Amino acid sequence: MHKVYLNGEMVALSEAKISVMDRGFLFGDGVYEVIPVYSWRPFRLPEHLRRLQRSLDGIRLANPHTDREWTALIDRLVAAVDAEDQQIYLQVTRGADAVRNHVFPKRVVPTVFLKCDPLIPPSQAEVEQGIGAISAADNRWLRCDIKSISLLANCLLRQQAEDAGCIETLLFRDGFLSEASSSNVFVVRDGALLAPPKTHLILPGITYDVVLELATRHGLSHELRDVTEAEVREASEIWICSSTREVRAVVSLDGRSIGSGRPGPVYEKMQRWYQEFKAAATRGS
Ligand code: PMP
Repeated sequence: MHKVYLNGEMVALSEAKISVMDRGFLFGDGVYEVIPVYSWRPFRLPEHLRRLQRSLDGIRLANPHTDREWTALIDRLVAAVDAEDQQIYLQVTRGADAVRNHVFPKRVVPTVFLKCDPLIPPSQAEVEQGIGAISAADNRWLRCDIKSISLLANCLLRQQAEDAGCIETLLFRDGFLSEASSSNVFVVRDGALLAPPKTHLILPGITYDVVLELATRHGLSHELRDVTEAEVREASEIWICSSTREVRAVVSLDGRSIGSGRPGPVYEKMQRWYQEFKAAATRGS
C-alpha cells in the first residue's frame, strides 16, 4: 500500500494520525483540492494551486508551501502510486490548539495532508447513457467559492440524490441555478451553452473553466449569466462537470426526461473535445 503525506512525513495511511484538537476536526476549519492525474501528469496543477491560494486567502490562513514545494510534494506522491491515472486529495487545516476556541490560535501550525489514489473513471454507462439528477434548494452558506472542508450541507444534498437512485443534486437559490452538490452545471438552450457566472455562490471549477475554453476554441456559443430554474427544466441538455467526473450529461431531472432522455449532440461534441484536450495535456503539448 502506498504512503500518504502528513506534516512533512510519508506514512502508511493507518499510521497517519492527527490531534483531536485539530480545527479541521473540531470546526471544519480548512480547505482542500482534488487534482486528477493523467498518464502520471497532474492535470491543470497551476490552476489548482491558484485556487488553493484563493481558498486559503478566503479563510485567512497562510499558505504553508510555495507552488514549487507543492509541486515537488505532489510529484513525489504520484511517482509512488502504481497507476498512470490518479487523483490527489490535498487538505490544509488551521491545525491544533490547546483549547477549543472559535478565535484563531495565535501561533498556527497548519495540518497538511495529501493522499494519492488510482483514479476511478466514470462508468461506461454514465458516459454513454448519462445520469439522473434531482433538485433541491441550495441551503449552503454564502461563500461557496471557498473550497472549504466544511461539506456537511453538500454531503446531505448528495445523499438526497443517492437515496433517490440518482448521481447528483442540482441546486437552486432564489429561483436561480447555482451548481450541484459536488459539481458545476451547464445547460444547453437553442444550441448555446449557458452557465451561472463565477460568484461567491459557486465553486470556481477547474473543469468549468476547461469547458468554457473548449467552447471558445471550437466556436460553440456560450453565455455566463443567471440561469432561471425554468430555463434549466426546459433545457435541451444539462451537464454536470468536475475534476473526477469530467463532463457528464444529466438525462433526467426529478424523474422527468431532459431533451430526448439521452445525452445530447452538444454533449457528444464536448465529450470528444474534452478527451482530445486531456490527451494533448498528457503529451505536454
Ligand atoms: N462545485 C462543487 C460544490 C464541487 O465540490 C466541485 C468539485 N467536486 C465542483 C464544483 C467542480 O470543481 P472542479 O472542476 O474543480 O473539480
